Amino acid sequence: MRYLIISDIHANWEALEAVVAAAEDQYERVICCGDLVGYGADPNAVVDWARARVHLVVRGNHDRASVGMEDLDWFNPSARAAALWTLRELTPENAAYVRALPKGPVPGDTFHVVHGSPLDEDEYVLDNMSALQSLHYVAAAVTFFGHTHVQGGFAWRHGRVEPLRNPGAEHDRRLVEFDPEAAYLLNPGSVGQPRDGDPRAAFAIYDSEGGYLWFRRLPYDIEKAQQKIRRAGLPGVLADRLAIGR
Ligand code: ZN
Repeated sequence: MRYLIISDIHANWEALEAVVAAAEDQYERVICCGDLVGYGADPNAVVDWARARVHLVVRGNHDRASVGMEDLDWFNPSARAAALWTLRELTPENAAYVRALPKGPVPGDTFHVVHGSPLDEDEYVLDNMSALQSLHYVAAAVTFFGHTHVQGGFAWRHGRVEPLRNPGAEHDRRLVEFDPEAAYLLNPGSVGQPRDGDPRAAFAIYDSEGGYLWFRRLPYDIEKAQQKIRRAGLPGVLADRLAIGR
């Protein structure tokens, strides 16, 4: 089975639309590691699409926050403003869908899906140390995660953790061929608000039978997404950061 793996869409319709068009014919199912909404100006378009197209999805912290399930004191002012705006904006049907999103880990055919880490949906797995701790608790050879908005991940082989880097700004794809002796924590990167210094939308194509995955990057209409954020009255910083990928 071939999967489109996505995460952290954050209500950015322009980025999601570009990813779906570019990945067309390359997958049978869509897996999402959470944060459909929050930050961006198109929560309903993104949730409508997810309801129709996503096979398996877990909730993210911004999904919880945007339907009133989270104490917003923990959020910075712009994230809080975006969560409150999203709460007003979501249709009742879409709010009900977001509220019912399952907490990870959720098992797929040959993998597990989490938002933060297998232990804690809000944990940021950013370095070898946190990856090593998480890898002790993984229940499948492949675990997909999100939350950090950094494409890449970690391989665990013979008790050692190796980071898997993203393709780099000069490339648009990188192949990872799975070693049957290793376990993997893999982050497709953020579709709608990358924070690894590369503003292009991030996603991954995973082939479970072939035993490989492609990390992909894709330019999209950033200016249009920024314009919508500003026109919606959302904090300007949420538009600005899309152009720098931080
Ligand atoms: Zn996120």
